[in-house]
Amino acid sequence: MQYDVVVIGGGAIGMSIAYYLRKHKSACSVAVVEADPTYELASTPRASGGARRLFSTPENIEMSNYSIDCFTTFDRDMRFGEEEFSISWKKNGYLFIMPHRAVRMLEESFAVQQAHGVNVQFLTQADLKQKFPSMKVDDLGGGAYSPDDGWLDPHSVLQGYRRKAKELGAELITARVVAIEHQNKVARKVALADGRKIEASYVVNAAGAWAKEISEMVGMTVPIEPMKRFEHHFDTPVSIEPLPYVKDLDRLAFRPEGSGYSGGVPNTNQPRGVDFDVDHDYFERVVWPALAYRFPAFEQVKCRSTLAGLYDQNEVDGNPIIGPWTGSMDNFIMAAGYSGHGLMHAPASGRAVAELILDGRYQSIDLTRLGWQRIVDMRPLAEQGIV
Ligand SMILES: Cc1cc2nc3c(=O)[nH]c(=O)nc-3n(C[C@H](O)[C@H](O)[C@H](O)COP(=O)(O)OP(=O)(O)OC[C@H]3O[C@@H](n4cnc5c(N)ncnc54)[C@H](O)[C@@H]3O)c2cc1C
Repeated sequence: MQYDVVVIGGGAIGMSIAYYLRKHKSACSVAVVEADPTYELASTPRASGGARRLFSTPENIEMSNYSIDCFTTFDRDMRFGEEEFSISWKKNGYLFIMPHRAVRMLEESFAVQQAHGVNVQFLTQADLKQKFPSMKVDDLGGGAYSPDDGWLDPHSVLQGYRRKAKELGAELITARVVAIEHQNKVARKVALADGRKIEASYVVNAAGAWAKEISEMVGMTVPIEPMKRFEHHFDTPVSIEPLPYVKDLDRLAFRPEGSGYSGGVPNTNQPRGVDFDVDHDYFERVVWPALAYRFPAFEQVKCRSTLAGLYDQNEVDGNPIIGPWTGSMDNFIMAAGYSGHGLMHAPASGRAVAELILDGRYQSIDLTRLGWQRIVDMRPLAEQGIV
């Protein structure tokens, strides 16, 4: 077997890359190797589905601008024959709320967001109270509200890309990658657990929380670790005004889902590793107090279910590593380390990697600053919009 590009990992990132490689005017041959096409433990289907432009770095904002535009037409673009298809895009807005001490940070990000064409409103404490009467606001300095952002169904995004990439000619191979043969700083063959080997001109590491294992196969050490995060589904008997996706500085992040809500409080001190055990007390201990504090109507909240998923956490700066292993193995391309924002950036990432490989450089959004060099130089890309 021989392909121009072998993508390792068929989650939202890997499938988007395959889709854009096949859609490109100089489309090349592509194989996506995915160990588990049921995606039982993959991060994509376990994501909360939030998509926002509320970042502070131009790259992240621009990636969101493009990706969210894609989500708004995704149902049509990924339609398969006559079959109904929907990612359930909900343009219900995104709201970052900040205490007085962090308002300056919010204002700085706000200026960059506006400069990049984001429809964002700065809400004062009084605006917040008026718009969201059930929210406790007396300790808040303000909020950034982006009404064009929202959330979607992550599994459908993955399936849309998967089916479309296949329709466009990408080969989908079910197998576990166990080794990458390389020679003279060039990745040559991807070895599968069933004994097959695939020759490749480019190898893309899109293995999410497992990206470190894949990089180690070529001798590259990446600062990407699996970090467990719970997503809870909960409801409350007290009905309140419709909410956008709400996020605060203490990492409470949640949104409406059906007649209830979905969200949680990521714990960045969580020991790293592949671990899906659910701590059933976490909601009562951490999430409930945060919710009930901010929205007293949530005093009587009940947790209906909790699912554990993995962030592909980039320990350096919480941003992805996109691009080649420069100077060491230029045909080994990283697209991992997305931490908590890989799903929303899947469209822009797929396009970017396709441009890198097929055009030789970024054409649309210059993501050079998200490349490997910043890790070598230990120059974290400071992003205020990741809390
Ligand atoms: C609880 C939770 C909530 C989140 N909420 C959001 C959110 O609201 N918005 C957002 O944008 N992001 C969110 N994220 C982050 C998001 O889920 C990830 O950044 C994104 O899904 C990463 O996609 P991926 O394709 O890189 O990884 P994955 O979906 O994990 O895909 C990687 C694939 O690689 C495969 N693989 C691994 N090793 C091998 C191997 N050796 N051989 C072959 N295949 C292999 C795996 O089977 C897997 O299917 C959340 C994550 C979690 C856990």
